[in-house]
Amino acid sequence: MKHIAIIGAGPAGLMAAEAAIEAGAQVSIYDAMPSVARKFLMAGKSGLNISHSEEAALFRSRYRAPDARLADMIEAFGPSDVERWMTGLGIESFKGSSGRVFPVMMKASPLLRAWLVRLQRDGARLHVRHCWQGWDETGALVFATPEKEVRLEADAVILTLGGASWSRLGSDGAWADLLAAKGVELEPFQPSNCGFEVSWSERLLNGFEGAPLKGVRLSVGDQSAQGDVIITNRGIESGAIYPLSPNLIGQISARGGATLEVDLLPDVDMDILTRRLAAANPKDSSSNRLRKSARLDRTKIALVNEIARGVLPAEAGDLARSLKSLPVRVDGPVPMDEAISTAGGVSWSALDDHLMLKALPGVYCAGEMVAWDAPTGGYLLTACLAMGRAAGRAAAGH
Ligand SMILES: Cc1cc2nc3c(=O)[nH]c(=O)nc-3n(C[C@H](O)[C@H](O)[C@H](O)COP(=O)(O)OP(=O)(O)OC[C@H]3O[C@@H](n4cnc5c(N)ncnc54)[C@H](O)[C@@H]3O)c2cc1C
Repeated sequence: MKHIAIIGAGPAGLMAAEAAIEAGAQVSIYDAMPSVARKFLMAGKSGLNISHSEEAALFRSRYRAPDARLADMIEAFGPSDVERWMTGLGIESFKGSSGRVFPVMMKASPLLRAWLVRLQRDGARLHVRHCWQGWDETGALVFATPEKEVRLEADAVILTLGGASWSRLGSDGAWADLLAAKGVELEPFQPSNCGFEVSWSERLLNGFEGAPLKGVRLSVGDQSAQGDVIITNRGIESGAIYPLSPNLIGQISARGGATLEVDLLPDVDMDILTRRLAAANPKDSSSNRLRKSARLDRTKIALVNEIARGVLPAEAGDLARSLKSLPVRVDGPVPMDEAISTAGGVSWSALDDHLMLKALPGVYCAGEMVAWDAPTGGYLLTACLAMGRAAGRAAAGH
């Protein structure tokens, strides 16, 4: 029986193990941390948005410039397969109003527990506190454990080591140096799905740190997204800004900064807003005009004052335009370790059609460590599971 070593016990690694076992292989799973799938469990804290039920073509279009191989893998194991797979583990799923798919219990731990029980029942051997260090001169895998160094061989190896964010959960990206030393082509890591830095005044932070800008529309270039945005002591954070991160990061790298246009009233037509502002009592202070006529809450008024620095257009049409396209200067992304996910990693050109490294025959890669990118919304986990499954099958047949 073929023996496969899987290094990295996140969702991609565990799915690779499942697929390899189904294909008749024996698997051992190794992880550096004292327990497995810590990022998966962290994703569960916000309900575990594991997939998305939108129409298949739309779902595929969410992946940013995907390699055809990724598209095929997601086709072979897509959202409905993820739901069926969860049902097989005794976990019912439901679709939120936006079509996002979650486990009914809105957490990852029951799913992970059931998954690990099934994997171990099917013969997977799990080794935690095994930090992979690369290969020795004979080609054996080398692991550091609390007691000693362990060396071992396998018929095939699947690397599912994750991206380079939330290093305290195990995904530190340190593997990149090990693969680069073996001649594997890598793309630089970049934060994705992350918050951004804005130099807020002390005055704004004193009153509004942690406050939400509710239901605003954010635009950068020709891309926009709508939702609540939190003012943080560093800048801005929230799921509404994540889809814009590639565009913002692109502008920041090209120009040293970017401008985010904020529409404070996306559901109010410009003409209606202009009429409301024009009808304001001329004796109203500018804050009262914003509160009573534009119907802005305190946080939005504070943002207007922060950006306009107290000098607001007097004419109703000009003021309406400002409120619907407030320019917020963004200095840069938050540090990569705080990003929900990272782009970059093992280049697709380093992989063959079955996710095997061309430079290292018998060594496969899957999950976030490969260079692809997607917004939040269940796309990340679905792709990790789909890739893990493809790598597990391919390695078992190697
Ligand atoms: C706060 C948060 C919320 C999220 N929410 C969602 C969500 O709702 N929906 C969604 O789709 N995605 C979400 N994600 C992203 C998703 O969790 C990741 O994309 C996914 O976990 C990546 O899976 P992976 O198996 O590729 O890698 P990981 O889950 O990162 O697992 C990699 C594993 O490799 C191990 N490892 C690393 N280096 C070594 C080494 N040298 N030796 C041994 N082991 C090693 C790590 O300990 C880790 O266990 C979220 C992420 C975060 C941080």
